[in-house]
Amino acid sequence: MRRQFQPNGRSLHAEADRTLYPTSHWEHRVSTHQTQLDYDVFVAPAKPFNGLQAWIGDPPGWDPTTATLIFGERDAVLVDALCTMNEAAVLADWVGLHGRGLTTIYITHAHFDHWLGLSVLLERFPSARAIASAGTVGLMRRVSQFDTYRAWFPGKIADTIGVPEPLVTDYFELEGHRLEVIETGHTDCNNSTSLYVPELGVIVAGDVVYNHCHMYVGDTTQASRNEWIAALDKLAGLHPQAVVAGHKDPTCGNSPSIVAESRGYIESYGQLCDAGLRDRELFDAMVSRYPDWISRQQFLLLGLHSGHQ
Ligand SMILES: [Zn+2]
Repeated sequence: MRRQFQPNGRSLHAEADRTLYPTSHWEHRVSTHQTQLDYDVFVAPAKPFNGLQAWIGDPPGWDPTTATLIFGERDAVLVDALCTMNEAAVLADWVGLHGRGLTTIYITHAHFDHWLGLSVLLERFPSARAIASAGTVGLMRRVSQFDTYRAWFPGKIADTIGVPEPLVTDYFELEGHRLEVIETGHTDCNNSTSLYVPELGVIVAGDVVYNHCHMYVGDTTQASRNEWIAALDKLAGLHPQAVVAGHKDPTCGNSPSIVAESRGYIESYGQLCDAGLRDRELFDAMVSRYPDWISRQQFLLLGLHSGHQ
């Protein structure tokens, strides 16, 4: 039987149990009345795309992309919806294996690679509510280049693109636990956010943080890099136990050290730009500084328009 929760998160079912236990026993039960949360991370592998004719680095490919399930005793929240129809269909199967009811799909930011799979997921989980911050939804409503994305991934993007509802609060709940929306401003994307789960000490960072994967710094400026670094400092200030990056080397865990590593990467890139390095020199210098990081993609390091030269 489903439990119903009051706004403070206490179970009505637990209230009913009170008559069954002496006070001392009840006090103990009060301290553990909430269900425990847990999380799991799905990583869609890298995929080829037809966007650019790269003259340097790996053959054009999109970096491995994550979606995260946060779940309690019976309900779950999915963070991000991946991109292609296939990715979203397999993600939906994976969500189903966890045996919880999917109540919410939260999208961290407006970049298409974390969002275009939403309609497939909503078809599979019609009672789930799709939400994002008001800033993210505002950007999504202005996206017009779906033809470009369909050309990059021919036959793989859904015909119908779902748009989440804007959140009017800076948090939402899962089985009485608060999940907090952290506004991170202009990082990899404008109006980006991360989702913080205080009880787990977990930040689902979206593309604010990368995990041993070359970062999308090619279209940054000194000002936007400074904003990005400030956002990383904001996340570090939460002293997380684990951080899930939007793009990651699938063989890596979710260490909080990736926040400082992402910060160092952006600083390195800025130093090389300041030193006057451009194009091939800049690309080679970053790859030699980060030899173990995956996705040596021209578009990540030199910008999405660098392939059109
Ligand atoms: Zn991304």
